[in-house]
Amino acid sequence: TKALNFGKNASITPSPDEGIHEEEVWIEEAKAKPIQVVLANGDEHSFELDAAALEKILLQDHVKDLNVVVVSVAGAFRKGKSFLLDFMLRYMHSQSDSWIGGDDEPLTGFTWRGGCERETTGIQIWSEVFVIDKPDGSKVAVLLVDTQGAFDSQSTIKDCATVFALSTMTSSMQVYNLTQNIQEDDLQHLQLFTEYGRLAMEEIYLKPFQSLMFLIRDWSYPYEHHYGLEGGNAFLDKRLQVKCNQHEELQNVRKHIHSCFSNIDCFLLPHPGLKVATNPYFDGRLRDIDGDFKRELTKLVPLLLAPERLVVKEIGGNKVTCRDLLEYFKAYIKIYQGEELPHPKSMLQATAEANNLTAVAGAKDMYGKSMELVCGGDKPYIAPADLERSHEEFRDHSVAHFRSVKKMGGDEFCQRYQNQLESELNEAYANFSKHNDGKNIFYAARTPATLFAVMFV
Ligand code: GDP
Ligand code: MG
Repeated sequence: TKALNFGKNASITPSPDEGIHEEEVWIEEAKAKPIQVVLANGDEHSFELDAAALEKILLQDHVKDLNVVVVSVAGAFRKGKSFLLDFMLRYMHSQSDSWIGGDDEPLTGFTWRGGCERETTGIQIWSEVFVIDKPDGSKVAVLLVDTQGAFDSQSTIKDCATVFALSTMTSSMQVYNLTQNIQEDDLQHLQLFTEYGRLAMEEIYLKPFQSLMFLIRDWSYPYEHHYGLEGGNAFLDKRLQVKCNQHEELQNVRKHIHSCFSNIDCFLLPHPGLKVATNPYFDGRLRDIDGDFKRELTKLVPLLLAPERLVVKEIGGNKVTCRDLLEYFKAYIKIYQGEELPHPKSMLQATAEANNLTAVAGAKDMYGKSMELVCGGDKPYIAPADLERSHEEFRDHSVAHFRSVKKMGGDEFCQRYQNQLESELNEAYANFSKHNDGKNIFYAARTPATLFAVMFV
């Protein structure tokens, strides 16, 4: 089998206490489950971010500083999203080409059984973050996300568009799960939740979103377009084609969608068979699933998750770590908590803020690490003049780093954050100095006796 270095073992960093660590990981895995991080409150049309739950997922020591790949499956209820996500989990856990599992293994993971699931509009994240080695040698953290809602009435459309916008802004791969066909409605909904991207794009000259995959379930025209990616892309090209005799509104939807995503694909999946669709006792075992479906599934899942296919989340041209992603979630949710649909401008503002804040944090971290090497807790006292020289050098480095990070919001806006960075660095320097002074035994007790001692050292 191909060396797929991921899953349980890949997330274990070699350390002297490896035994304990491995057990912890195992326990973590045993209770891994989907965690509701964003919840739409149906009656009040408000949104809540469970920041503590999200922190627990994103700030785990072994992933917080890794670049993050966010794969989200979004769509209406009861269209087989959880069913698909469970197979995606199997792929992530497996280390072999036989990831799809045995014929009689029930599916587990995201709850997928029709009927027993509460229909909550919102975003769920799988609690376990997968650490994957990409072929280029980099390590990335992979998040699996389930985004769902209903576009079935005027009031739910707003909630749903909000939740979908949020997950599209925060994911690197959005799988738009549809059944049977791409309807004009589906495109309009997509336009609604990508609308926020347009202004951001004007500001940064980059497409605001990354990859979008239309996933059409129960495709029943394989003679027109084959199952799979090639057939799907041919179908999509036709569906998204802008024709000159089209109504202007229809043309705009199509142009808009093209301009928002760096990458758009479509995959046609066959019907999984009657047992899957209708038998209440069906538990997900492969034996009960149609061969065509299984064959296409074994092509689809690696397209989304194979190490060489994983694309790191970028916002405003910067790669995003798990820790950064938390800040973006916090910034984005804030603007959705008002009554009205957020203005794209405030979306941009929130992005620019989070963007600058993560750049400040990164630059400050860089300064702190360098200073630790010179005058950290385990380092001896150094002459204040030398310390000041180091500070100046590292401060300039840190500020240069901040300036080199691509940021949104314009020069004046970014200058405010640079000022903030500089004052935080000066504050940090004052602390380092104090600490350093504390190490000087002569300074600690400045008496004539110590002065006397100095003369004889
Ligand atoms: P979700 O609400 O979108 O997460 O949907 P679920 O994954 O819970 O699936 C809802 C129902 O659809 C379950 O009974 C599944 O067995 C069934 N199902 C799963 N995948 C498919 C599919 O591709 N086509 C059809 N027709 N049914 C499916
Ligand atoms: Mg579900």
